[in-house]
Amino acid sequence: MNNTTINTSNGKEIIIKIENLVKRFGKLEVLKGVNMEVKKKETIVIIGPSGGGKSTLLRCINKLEHYQGGKIYLDGKDIDEYDINQLRTRIGMVFQQFNLFPHMSVLQNLILAPVKVKKIPESKAIEKAKVLLNRVGLIDKIDAYPEQLSGGQKQRVAIARALMMDPEIMLFDEPTSALDPELVGEVLDVMKDLANSGMTMLVVTHEMGFAREVADRIVFISNGVIEEEGTPEEILKNPKKPRTKEFLRRIL
Ligand code: ADP
Ligand code: MG
Repeated sequence: MNNTTINTSNGKEIIIKIENLVKRFGKLEVLKGVNMEVKKKETIVIIGPSGGGKSTLLRCINKLEHYQGGKIYLDGKDIDEYDINQLRTRIGMVFQQFNLFPHMSVLQNLILAPVKVKKIPESKAIEKAKVLLNRVGLIDKIDAYPEQLSGGQKQRVAIARALMMDPEIMLFDEPTSALDPELVGEVLDVMKDLANSGMTMLVVTHEMGFAREVADRIVFISNGVIEEEGTPEEILKNPKKPRTKEFLRRIL
């Protein structure tokens, strides 16, 4: 592949290209040749049965996992050629289990990486943290500790913390799955706002209302392969593959 080619499709620049990605854990082949393109500003929702490889795919993109075959390109450049800190600055990730540092306040959680990794002056980082906490509706919790927050608040802090690095892409791995039902909406609202602001997002979720409203495309992954993909309309109203139909029948 050549770095200088600007790949375009429908006039939008491709920011991530995944080619024939193969991932094994020992003998278990978890991703069996996944191909995927993500355009700038696109929101892709990834759905599929448990154990199908959704988390592993996101983790490979962010280099939290090694893989055995295939390539992942960010802006046309193999992610192996990026410095790991540089890559993770450009790609933010939010997990199901918040992963906030429990012994640090909300503000300290937010400014840690920008100050340590990006070498942003602390005063600048604090200013930025305040802007982002306002954006996620939690400025009044700036000095709170994680244990004093609800699950929904923790997850909104986790999103703000990821945004502190000015990522170009955000990966979400079932960000609302650990939440009580009444707290899901506040987190989805923050994600909707982010998608509408033009963030490129890959979201593993089974919140089909969110997918219908926000996704440009839905990708159905089962057994380590992309079984089917399309617009929300195509996938939710008119799935073609038996596995997709069966999965949707169960969750809808
Ligand atoms: P999903 O997110 O779609 O539920 P995962 O990507 O978490 O699926 O897992 C895909 C498969 O890989 C599962 O069979 C899972 O048990 C296996 N797996 C995931 N992580 C590991 C690991 N660190 N070691 C061994 N097997 C793993
Ligand atoms: Mg998972």
